[in-house]
Amino acid sequence: MTPHADPQAGAAVKAADRAHVFHSWSAQGLIDPLAVAGAEGAYFWDYEGKRYLDFTSGLVYTNIGYQHPKVVAAIQEQAGRLATFAPAFAVDVRSEAARLIAERTPGDLDKIFFTNGGAEAVENAVRMARLHTGRHKVLSAYRSYHGATSTAINLTGDPRRWPSDQGSAGVVHFWAPFLYRSPFYSENEQQECERALQHLEDTIAFEGPQTIAAIILETVPGTAGIMVPPPGYLAGVREICDRYGIVFVLDEVMAGFGRTGKWFAAEQFDVVPDLMTFAKGVNSGYVPLGGVAISAEIAATFDKRPYPGGLTYSGHPLACAAAVATINTMEEEGVVEHAARLGETVIGPGLRELAERHPSVGDVRGLGAFWALDLVRNKETREPLVPYNAAGEANAPMAAFAAACKAKGLWPFVNMNRTHVVPACNITEAEAKDGLAILDEALTVADEHT
Ligand code: PMP
Repeated sequence: MTPHADPQAGAAVKAADRAHVFHSWSAQGLIDPLAVAGAEGAYFWDYEGKRYLDFTSGLVYTNIGYQHPKVVAAIQEQAGRLATFAPAFAVDVRSEAARLIAERTPGDLDKIFFTNGGAEAVENAVRMARLHTGRHKVLSAYRSYHGATSTAINLTGDPRRWPSDQGSAGVVHFWAPFLYRSPFYSENEQQECERALQHLEDTIAFEGPQTIAAIILETVPGTAGIMVPPPGYLAGVREICDRYGIVFVLDEVMAGFGRTGKWFAAEQFDVVPDLMTFAKGVNSGYVPLGGVAISAEIAATFDKRPYPGGLTYSGHPLACAAAVATINTMEEEGVVEHAARLGETVIGPGLRELAERHPSVGDVRGLGAFWALDLVRNKETREPLVPYNAAGEANAPMAAFAAACKAKGLWPFVNMNRTHVVPACNITEAEAKDGLAILDEALTVADEHT
């Protein structure tokens, strides 16, 4: 499929969308969604025939790009053979997907509970932790995102929680480390790590360790700013959890499946959680799939006692076929290693070079195919380019930056004062460089606001 102009068809798609589709996270009357005609690899295109390099991989999930022929063929083959089957049965493709995932997760996370996406994975991880410990409270970080269902949104530590927050009993937020905007006013990574661990210890002491079922963290917090934790932090949290009998949950919905240049980001930090959530990259989102990888000890809790949770489409054969094909393809094509190399040799150095030249780039952070630029008005004070949670006119500088990217054929990920560089993990070096060149031009628009 190649881009060609068909504005009339585009107008019809748009009209039906505006009439009947109720969009996520949006004021329905204020949005103007682009009508998408097709996609392939790292690109998609509209009905005007305009092509965009996708620096967002959808919502950070098309880790092997759009329309990978091997994954499409696997879904087609599965649909022809056994399109669906209920979760209580052993089905070849479900068993195989679980095996391939378990073989790649760290430590003894060898049992896989399948869900339809990330939020349901978080809901079930919390349920497992509560039942396993007999405790209720869950600690999660500010500057986090864990999903939009009821427990997951309450755990989330960004403004999207505010309208839905039921003040749900048992959710307690704490500050995780983030040196560039340090909640602890630290001067270096080691200090930030020590202070963040002390703060977590203090939070636990005042909440009562015997009441805390779980601590949940994104291994590398994604939506809230791709904040790579300082060396030693996650190992420190692991040690604290062990000391108090708290279940350690790592949310790898965004950071997993090659995004950071390892199968799972936990490997980057040499840490093994008790439960690990995944979704997105597990099958590049071709069919909705998520899940929880469960340690032997927690799985044993439900050996003779039923696990009180389930989903009609858990381990859906089409989703599992897509996962098997995605994982095998990533292995065959060396996609995980490619993402690591891209981060080290192209994206990281390229973004740092932009930071040197553009007054609006305050910070560059990330790894693999998982990077953020923190845009500022002033590099010294680090004042963000737009205020926290800005909307409308207050957000105009970021909107202008995004518009400049799009005009030049780059679809950027923009969140608050940040742009994230999160392309498909198998984007070529040349494609990545094309995207960086467009970012370079668009940043001059942001520079005007410094
Ligand atoms: N956890 C993390 C870390 C995420 O990034 C997301 C989605 N962005 C979720 C959970 C929720 O996943 P889903 O939208 O599939 O429910």
